[in-house]
Amino acid sequence: MRTSFYQYSLDDLYQIFEEHDLHSSGVSRLYNWHYKKKKTGPCLKDMARKTIEFVENHFDFSLPQIIKIQTSEDKTVKLLFELEDQLSVESVIIPFNGKYSLCISSQVGCAMNCSFCHTGLQGLKRQLKTHEIIGQFMAAQRWLSANRPDDDSIQNVVFMGQGEPLHNFDAVKKSCEIMLSQHGLSLADHKITISTAGYLPGIQRWHSEGMPDVNIALSLHSPIKAKRDELIPINKTFDLGDILPLIDAIPKGKKRFVTYEYLLIKDFNDSDEDAHATGRLLQGKKAFISLIPFNPFPMARYQKPETHRIERFKSILDLYKIPTLVRVTKGDEILAACGQLNTGLKNSNSR
Ligand code: SF4
Repeated sequence: MRTSFYQYSLDDLYQIFEEHDLHSSGVSRLYNWHYKKKKTGPCLKDMARKTIEFVENHFDFSLPQIIKIQTSEDKTVKLLFELEDQLSVESVIIPFNGKYSLCISSQVGCAMNCSFCHTGLQGLKRQLKTHEIIGQFMAAQRWLSANRPDDDSIQNVVFMGQGEPLHNFDAVKKSCEIMLSQHGLSLADHKITISTAGYLPGIQRWHSEGMPDVNIALSLHSPIKAKRDELIPINKTFDLGDILPLIDAIPKGKKRFVTYEYLLIKDFNDSDEDAHATGRLLQGKKAFISLIPFNPFPMARYQKPETHRIERFKSILDLYKIPTLVRVTKGDEILAACGQLNTGLKNSNSR
């Protein structure tokens, strides 16, 4: 039975080739062919007959199928993928500075049940496998090459699509290894960000088992326990007091920060008091705050904050000398912005 080529790290492939008494040179050749040269079929050139037969009989090179494409005015693209078992996930290609960032999903649905999140409404259907995570990247890259050949480069990957990535630790870790491999997708380590709602067992595994050298972002959304409990129910189990020291202790390069995401919600967590509490919590840390105005979606219980409140909130954080950026919302008219992804509800504004 054939298995997906895209589930294997370089080390996995070396081991498989060794076990089958195949020449190791075929490993980097295969990796280069698929990830660097972006070829679709198996590389059969300059390979021994035995290796060719093995590759043909053991590896499957198919990708998740794109079944729906939505594009917004700002060139954001939302891709809906159908998986082998007919479940679906979404990825979002986001333009920035002439390049692209890919917001990738790590689970079908999500178990964390955050009250502001469209994905949370779905519940967890299942974990994505490594090849389904890498498959989103490969399929998005191919879509760009075919449709926007002049600027088709994905430079950043953010695990901020559907799912809590640290709840699917093994597949996310291996995906990062493949993305960072110089023979593989060859992304720079500071170009991959894993965003967590604060899933403590996953953060503990980051320390005990290691994670490739990628960035971490924490969905903070409020430093006030009662409010964070409402927004992120796992906060009742995994306290911020236990999470923050572990996040601080993740090794970071000189100019690298932990990103703290703060979803600003009208009349809920956008007051002066909320801003000061956030400033006090993060003052002195290697912190960067990403302020995200809430993006409404069908049945959402919260509202977008007013512009003057966003500006006021940022100006208070500036007093604490914490670098803060208000994230520009992209793709909200196709429900591709932060917290809006949901494959349980299939809207129909495709273009
Ligand atoms: S915000 Fe993230 S962790 Fe929370 S329910 Fe949505 S996808 Fe899951």
